[in-house]
Amino acid sequence: MTTETFEFQVEARQLLQLMIHSVYSNKDVFLRELVSNASDALDKLRLEKLRDDSLDADVSDLHIEIDVDKNARTLTVRDNGIGMSYDEVGQLIGTIANSGTARFLKELREAQDGAGAEGLIGQFGVGFYSGFMVADEVTLVTRRAGESQGTRWTSRGESTYTLEKVDAPQGTSVTLHLKPADPENQLHDYTSPWTIREIVKRYSDFITWPIRMVPEKGDGEDAPEPETLNSMKALWARSRDEVSDDEYHELYKHISHDWREPLETIRLQAEGTFEYQALLFVPSHAPHDLFTRDFKRGVQLYVKRVFIMDDCEALLPPYLRFVKGVVDAQDLSLNVSREILQQDRHIRMMQRRLTKKVLSTVKEIKTKDADRYATFWREFGTVLKEGLVTDSENRDAILAVASFATTHAEDEPTTLAQYVERMKDGQEDIYYITGESRQSIENSPHMEAFRDKGIEVLLLTDAVDEVWVDAVGEYEGKKLRSVAKGEIDLDGEKDEKAGGEREKQAEEYAGLLGWMREQLDEDIKEVRLSARLTVSPACVVSDAHDLTPALENMYRAMGQ
Ligand code: ADP
Ligand code: MG
Repeated sequence: MTTETFEFQVEARQLLQLMIHSVYSNKDVFLRELVSNASDALDKLRLEKLRDDSLDADVSDLHIEIDVDKNARTLTVRDNGIGMSYDEVGQLIGTIANSGTARFLKELREAQDGAGAEGLIGQFGVGFYSGFMVADEVTLVTRRAGESQGTRWTSRGESTYTLEKVDAPQGTSVTLHLKPADPENQLHDYTSPWTIREIVKRYSDFITWPIRMVPEKGDGEDAPEPETLNSMKALWARSRDEVSDDEYHELYKHISHDWREPLETIRLQAEGTFEYQALLFVPSHAPHDLFTRDFKRGVQLYVKRVFIMDDCEALLPPYLRFVKGVVDAQDLSLNVSREILQQDRHIRMMQRRLTKKVLSTVKEIKTKDADRYATFWREFGTVLKEGLVTDSENRDAILAVASFATTHAEDEPTTLAQYVERMKDGQEDIYYITGESRQSIENSPHMEAFRDKGIEVLLLTDAVDEVWVDAVGEYEGKKLRSVAKGEIDLDGEKDEKAGGEREKQAEEYAGLLGWMREQLDEDIKEVRLSARLTVSPACVVSDAHDLTPALENMYRAMGQ
């Protein structure tokens, strides 16, 4: 058979370099990544076989095997799952499919400290490459279930890898040729069964497939039984006091491909006619692609402990797309499809309940822990606000946890409730201004009169703000009013004298206004005298109902 040599994609090469010169201090996690991939491959095979019984694959003893060879200094993680075809190996292992990678690498270079870099790496699922933290050569042998030809991929993590067609058993085995031992550091001797057992226990105990350690070969005697290292217990089915926070966090890392701890863990056990368990996580950081069209939203769906699908979007509304986790339903068909889920009455009820649970948890965080709430809102406030537009049922619950920058305080955002409490005597409306950045809108001419009179204005800088203020309209009977739209009459002065004065001025300036209108004809509708300015000579206002270009972006982000 011929061996072909290929170049890694540029981004892939950069990531490999990072792995080799390991920015990540805890190298043990390479094993978690390989086990995680093996587990995914077993899930996929079981599912494919379920959907297509004629698939020529053996699913009788699906498992993961770890095999260490002290003398050769190799460690192999093997699964008999879905495997990969020759082309798939090239695509999946030789490149990085994520479009955000270039931006990621840039940020990574900018992240000075190791901790920042660790977090960034986690977000981009460089799982397989993490093997190069501990190995100087990696070989992967795989055969896709149902195909007859296997493939061997091998690389030293430099600029190239090779592919070769070989005979291989169904599934995938990844063999790491370990870097020379560090005599100073016995704890991280990956040829030691003790070390492996510890790492699997710590990071992969909940994996629902058996992870077996291949026993060391005796001298011609009967081979000892392989040892299963993990308990395989589904964490969502166990009671809260049986499971440690660490265990929850490891599950989070497995399903989210994030290497950091989650901000919050949410459990829900629904009993009754439609029984299900949910274990949801709020990440501590928003992923980079949260506002892109192809962001994979939704949580994992299991049916009676069997993995059914990733990114099940029917379970949570789009504005909670950052939530990760698992939902395990008892009474769904294993063959359930996305289309069926979208229409299923039970699923809709489940979505409502999960949504309320997430929102009430956020409220709890807000009441109990100001710092954690601040983190939450910084990371996810923008996306949550989409719910103000799209989910009228939960509008109040979202408003209750929403906070906004305000002229009242430099760095402390306010809730609408707090704003209302501070409203001046006679002030009837809640004022806001929208724009690109706090700085640009704070210095906007529209603000002059408000500043003069000491009236608080909310400073809204997200694209979505333009929409929800219109959709929501009012809060506790107080209208939400833009300081930049329509006529604003701060003194409520309707008296003759002021009106007469204005008219007189208008006459006086008619010539100037007419000239301006002519000059700006292409760009404006009207020029008028204004009472809203105190220092600036002129400002641009829009009609009360005009929309802005920022909106278009938001609708796109919301997939509408
Ligand atoms: P991720 O798991 O986040 O997708 P990885 O770098 O860990 O990223 O893996 C890249 C891809 O390679 C996986 O998505 C999967 O398609 C494929 N892959 C990796 N390991 C295996 C395996 N053991 N069996 C089948 N496919 C695998
Ligand atoms: Mg992976």
